[in-house]
Amino acid sequence: MKPSEKRNQNAILLKRDAENILIDCGEGTQRQFRIARQSPCKLTRLLITHWHGDHVLGISGLLQTMAQSEYNKTLYIYGPVGTKKYFAEIMNLFHFAGNIKTVITEIVNDGTFYENEDFALEAFKVRHSCPSLAYAFIEKEKTRINKEKLKKLKIPSGPLIGELQKGKDITIDGKKIKAKDITYKKEGKKIAFMMDTVPCEGCLKAAKDANLLIAEATFLDDLKEKAQETLHMTAKQTAEIAKKSNVNKLILTHISERYERNLNIVLKEAKKTFKNSELAKDFMRIKI
Ligand SMILES: [Zn+2]
Ligand SMILES: [Zn+2]
Repeated sequence: MKPSEKRNQNAILLKRDAENILIDCGEGTQRQFRIARQSPCKLTRLLITHWHGDHVLGISGLLQTMAQSEYNKTLYIYGPVGTKKYFAEIMNLFHFAGNIKTVITEIVNDGTFYENEDFALEAFKVRHSCPSLAYAFIEKEKTRINKEKLKKLKIPSGPLIGELQKGKDITIDGKKIKAKDITYKKEGKKIAFMMDTVPCEGCLKAAKDANLLIAEATFLDDLKEKAQETLHMTAKQTAEIAKKSNVNKLILTHISERYERNLNIVLKEAKKTFKNSELAKDFMRIKI
């Protein structure tokens, strides 16, 4: 919640070809972009989990830099109910030297809120002291070609391969080749983001079968009551969600500063329930 000497507030950048999706934007995010050698001008979407300062304080600074850097895309912004009003307040408060085109969507219903040929984005309501959302990025299943079979059948590279990839049968020298005999399906990957909440149905839905879950673990379980009071999770609870949801890997973040000198106790607690856990570090990169 508070930036420390070594850890900044929350912001996660998801890169996928031309898509650069930022999930939350804590204070100082634009400087983190600099240090990580990433360009804010490549941003395509901003997903806001909720409007508490530690998740959104960096938006105005980031937008100012983008405006000054002649950002020429449209920034698609998604968030819980209230996002349009809060965003308008930021824009009224600061005079940006430039203009940024934005399209803001308030997410009212659980489930898919954006999709293209390549991936889908889902959101689920979770329980916090203000409207809060958990998100999931879901890569779509892809049709791949079996290259050995391709060689065997002497299929030349070119448009015919594209046809096979679309699931269409082709004919070469009068011989019919069925797409299903030469292609196979490759399952898409899923990444889930679960920030401020108590354990709830929405968490399980967002995290279900995720290859990677990045989630808050504010307290240790001996402060379970405090976690409930402030509507946050303990490392044990977060690990339980990962386990129940059949997650492959869990990254813990949003850890209370009270554990700053001994972050490993948070990891240890999570690992007791879910072995494949790791602590988030600033500038950590994960390739999936
Ligand atoms: Zn919060
Ligand atoms: Zn927070």
